[in-house]
Amino acid sequence: MPGFELFSDAERKEVHDVLDTGVLMRYGFDGMRNGHWKAKELERALEAQFNVNHAQLVSSGTAAVSVAFAITGIGAGDEVIMPTFTFVASFEAIMMLGAIPVLVDIDDTLTLDPEAIRKAITPKTKAIMPVHMCGSMANLDEIKAICDEHNLILVEDACQAIGGTYNGKALGTIGDVGCFSFDFVKTMTCGEGGAIITNNKKYATHADHYSDHGHDHVGNDRGAETHPFLGYNFRISELNAAVGLAQVRRLPEFLSIQKKHYTILREALADIPEVVFRTVPKGGVESYAFLNFFLPDLTVAQKVMAGFKANGIDVCFHYFDNNWHYIRRWEHLKNLKSLYPISTEVKEGMKYLDTKTFEQSDHYIARNISCLIKMSWTAEEVKARGEKMREVILASL
Ligand SMILES: *Cc1c(COP(=O)(O)O)cnc(C)c1O
Repeated sequence: MPGFELFSDAERKEVHDVLDTGVLMRYGFDGMRNGHWKAKELERALEAQFNVNHAQLVSSGTAAVSVAFAITGIGAGDEVIMPTFTFVASFEAIMMLGAIPVLVDIDDTLTLDPEAIRKAITPKTKAIMPVHMCGSMANLDEIKAICDEHNLILVEDACQAIGGTYNGKALGTIGDVGCFSFDFVKTMTCGEGGAIITNNKKYATHADHYSDHGHDHVGNDRGAETHPFLGYNFRISELNAAVGLAQVRRLPEFLSIQKKHYTILREALADIPEVVFRTVPKGGVESYAFLNFFLPDLTVAQKVMAGFKANGIDVCFHYFDNNWHYIRRWEHLKNLKSLYPISTEVKEGMKYLDTKTFEQSDHYIARNISCLIKMSWTAEEVKARGEKMREVILASL
């Protein structure tokens, strides 16, 4: 990743198709479109790629997560269990619906710890959202068993792990609904865009209507459509979908390049006993978007990061000090800094953040380094990078 590294004539052609017709809207304008339905085509391509019955494009990955909760009926006062290590979109999407984000610890998979989930379940819990961070997945068998036992919705955020699999199935297709982002830095990009995927027909219909103001999309005349329920505008534009359509066709190629580069870097570090790679649950295959490893302690991790910086090793992240992906720096969430009033129920429901500490998450995130795998590197560049990373780590121990 990111998919923009390898933009080609394929993306340009799809975009030109749209510009030539002038129709940027994904619905309607049948007479003007010259047969081009980029969003619809991309939805069918996603269904084929991930072997899933329904895909619904939306305007972003954040929108995808919001839509996933809305269509499964999550709303005011419901509790949704999510990890401490994720992107800010997770709690934004939950809070947008008036629901309560319940943050719990991660484990050595860098995703939700099933034991921590069990401890966080209350009568108000309605859904669990594992976030498959940095190219690999949560222990989905165990999380699914918890969902079945407690009758909870399972929403997978697969925004950073598109193309990864679990027990032979695409990530995003194991839970009730899966979410993807196609933003500007994701493995496959539309510029801005996202999708939900599901095998549940009712959820798919809800997503189709909800993401377009509740329109039922029956017939061709938008003016005559009815609104079975309230919705919102989470539509993708034809221009964004056009880019994605070219990219989805190239996804297998992207994934194989990621795997190749990942393997070279991993092998360069494999015999350093102090480097422990993140755990991938049994049955899981990574998307290889990132190489993640743990170092002995925070001091070594900080030293390695400084060494990487001094040696031009870019795109490696130490999320402990990052304010986008880890609770430690989410002051705006912890202090509920909102432009508009938040319901008393949500305020009460989030009081736990005043005192709760996440030592187990700190234990993993403080020691983790996550290196993005670029597709545009040459074979020589990857090899030299691996050697340099190895040198820096050995010198930092
Ligand atoms: C990128 C991302 C999102 C949000 O996607 P946008 O398209 O940027 O809104 C959500 N979750 C995770 C894990 C992400 O990495």
